[in-house]
Amino acid sequence: MTQVKIIGAGLAGCEAAWQLAKRNIHVKLYEMKPSKYSPAHSSPDFAELVCSNSLRAANVENAVGLLKEEMRRCSSLIMECANKTRVPAGGALAVDREEFSKEVTRKIMENPFIEVVTQEVETIDEDEYTIIASGPLTGGKLYESIREFFGDEGYLHFFDAAAPIVTFESIDMTKAYKKARYDKGDADYINCPMNKKEYEAFYNELVAAELAELHGADEGVVFEGCMPVETMAKRGKDTLLFGPLKPVGLEMPGSGEIPYAAVQLRMDNKDGTLYNIVGFQTHLKFGEQKRVFSMIPGLENAEFVRYGVMHRNTFINSPCLLNSSYQTRKNEKIFFAGQITGVEGYIESASSGMVAGINMARLIENKKPVIFPRETATGALCHYISDESIRHFQPMNVTFGIITPCDKKIRKKKEKNAYLAERALNALKNIEI
Ligand SMILES: Cc1cc2nc3c(=O)[nH]c(=O)nc-3n(C[C@H](O)[C@H](O)[C@H](O)COP(=O)(O)OP(=O)(O)OC[C@H]3O[C@@H](n4cnc5c(N)ncnc54)[C@H](O)[C@@H]3O)c2cc1C
Repeated sequence: MTQVKIIGAGLAGCEAAWQLAKRNIHVKLYEMKPSKYSPAHSSPDFAELVCSNSLRAANVENAVGLLKEEMRRCSSLIMECANKTRVPAGGALAVDREEFSKEVTRKIMENPFIEVVTQEVETIDEDEYTIIASGPLTGGKLYESIREFFGDEGYLHFFDAAAPIVTFESIDMTKAYKKARYDKGDADYINCPMNKKEYEAFYNELVAAELAELHGADEGVVFEGCMPVETMAKRGKDTLLFGPLKPVGLEMPGSGEIPYAAVQLRMDNKDGTLYNIVGFQTHLKFGEQKRVFSMIPGLENAEFVRYGVMHRNTFINSPCLLNSSYQTRKNEKIFFAGQITGVEGYIESASSGMVAGINMARLIENKKPVIFPRETATGALCHYISDESIRHFQPMNVTFGIITPCDKKIRKKKEKNAYLAERALNALKNIEI
């Protein structure tokens, strides 16, 4: 009897197990809780929501709402349990976190195709069909085994802080301009110039802005990695002018003047629809990021598709390691799923578990993998994590910025998103799942 080993009964692991069981494939689901807990987990139940109880926007005009609808159409366990345990939350889908985890646990435990093993897995057996879904806090011997599996090129990444990402269309290009420093290199940055008065106003707000609370799990790792922009700013008024806001080599078009300070944004995806603010890794509260970073000329109306975050996050360099079905390029029997692949968020993690589960089943059944089209939110994530052209791979929430760009001119954002959602759901109908 062919059996699949799944490491971790989190959002991704449970969804993967469910998709396999639905296809009559036997699963051994290994979960170390309750014998051992990561610093962020505390409940013995599966699919634990470690922080917020919100699964974010419900409507399909929002990319995460679309992702959820696609998952419903693929008979997702996580969506079924979320719908059953939802609590009123306006435009969002929020759940009673305890009920939600209990419901997922019950469905998994009752399934005759799934055997749960309470054990910490420490090694990868390359001969076994395996899905590794051990989450962003993967540690100990398993962490070392993953590192060994991929070779010594430091494939397992680790970061403490990430910079915010904004959409290109929300940047005011009448104030910002494209240019590479000293015109060097092969890529233009977007530069937001500041005069002295603007810099001082921004600086004063930045150093006084409110920091996000630290989760117990994060303490101790926070200041070891890349330094948050507000921490750097607190070292002295001019420190940023020699760091991320250095203006040299960035003459403004027309006048040729060098601004007093310049914030740079780097293209974050191949289509150029997303840009990250260079050097702006931060630990400010999300509201404070919006307030203070919107003081930067050109970013007054910036749409933040991802705020800067700071917590321990272990993820592999997927674009070099995985294909779009979350299967490793190195060994067809080994898949990864969940936040460890560089998707970010509860639903995104579950979605990757769904794709990995479906495709593991197809591998065992000698069928071709299902490639979700990039018009779908599911496929856009698959594409993102396996896109070899990405140079600075960072975890990513689903957003319309990574979905195949709109093929029609639609000016109103809501209408455009509604069209993209309809296009995605139609594309989903055409694939055999
Ligand atoms: C502190 C923190 C807060 C977060 N807050 C949010 C939020 O509010 N909203 C949001 O959308 N996303 C949030 N995330 C990001 C992400 O959505 C969650 O981490 C999500 O739970 C990831 O799902 P997963 O299935 O990949 O991993 P997890 O849900 O972490 O599941 C992994 C499972 O594997 C088990 N495990 C680990 N190692 C082993 C092993 N060696 N052997 C056996 N079992 C093992 C763990 O016990 C766990 O049950 C947060 C992440 C962190 C770290």
